[in-house]
Amino acid sequence: MSATIIDGKAVAARVRAEVAEATREFTARVGRPPGLATVLVGEDPGSAVYVGAKQRACTEVGMAPFDRRLPADASHEQVTALLADLNADEAVDGVLLQLPVPGHLDGPTLTGLIDPAKDVDGLTPVNAGLLALGRPGLRPCTPQGVLELLAAAGVKLEGAEAVIVGRSNLFGKPMAQLLLGANATVTVCHSRTRELPAVCARADVLIAAIGRPRMLGAEHVRPGAVVIDVGVNRLTPEEAGNKSGLVGDVDFAAVAPVASAITPVPGGVGPMTIAELLRNTLTAAGRRAGVGE
Ligand code: NAP
Repeated sequence: MSATIIDGKAVAARVRAEVAEATREFTARVGRPPGLATVLVGEDPGSAVYVGAKQRACTEVGMAPFDRRLPADASHEQVTALLADLNADEAVDGVLLQLPVPGHLDGPTLTGLIDPAKDVDGLTPVNAGLLALGRPGLRPCTPQGVLELLAAAGVKLEGAEAVIVGRSNLFGKPMAQLLLGANATVTVCHSRTRELPAVCARADVLIAAIGRPRMLGAEHVRPGAVVIDVGVNRLTPEEAGNKSGLVGDVDFAAVAPVASAITPVPGGVGPMTIAELLRNTLTAAGRRAGVGE
């Protein structure tokens, strides 16, 4: 195997330590810690695990967690009222609605009700628009985490060919905007892209966010490319060949001998998402209290 493994756990631990230090300073200066509210509607076990991890991470860096839950049959009005309360709560700097919400609710519409100044997932139309315009705002956590990983790995983005597979509002589109902001030449692929292997093989930096286990193989990767695997797919531990049962969208064993650097799954992009959520909460708190950038 020739590729360097990009260690997301180590980079995320560094970001969390920086946020913890800045959180101590904020708390001493402002007289209260930054507050992060999570809203979980229903009892989806996967979502409950994510929310629990966000709450724990928040406590670990010295922030105040607000854990708000509504039953699976909560109405649009109930969720709206809760979001309005959190928007108005002075102790809350960040609000996130855990997605997906139950089928009778409209996730994007509800997310759009979060105060953009508290939108620490960076998914409201206001923050998506600010990103598209290249203006300061709160950025979506996972793409921001990918930029941080690329920086930590010393990858030069200026003038680089970057190819993203996946065009979701959650990841692919904001990733493209962030890479454009870093002066990469960006191509975004999706399910209708023709000749996907050939398009991917142009990339200096190939980013997979598809949701299909091990879909990208050696034929998608130019020798020496940097490969970032955002996919999280759950298989049985036997199928996955590891204890967690998690695999990415990239066939790691086939691609690692070809790439120059690659993120593993688990332990690559995943840990960055919560680290960046904490950073966004600190940023939002600083701006709201008039002590940040
Ligand atoms: P999504 O909304 O389902 O989007 C998937 C994208 O992949 C779509 O743009 C789709 O194209 C494209 N696609 C599907 N099949 C394809 C194919 N055969 N060829 C080319 N493109 C194809 O997913 P998402 O929310 O962006 O998430 C993608 C993956 O990243 C998932 O595994 C998710 O779990 C993971 N993820 C991880 C984190 C993390 O923290 N690590 C965060 C976010 C997401 P169309 O648009 O044409 O349908």
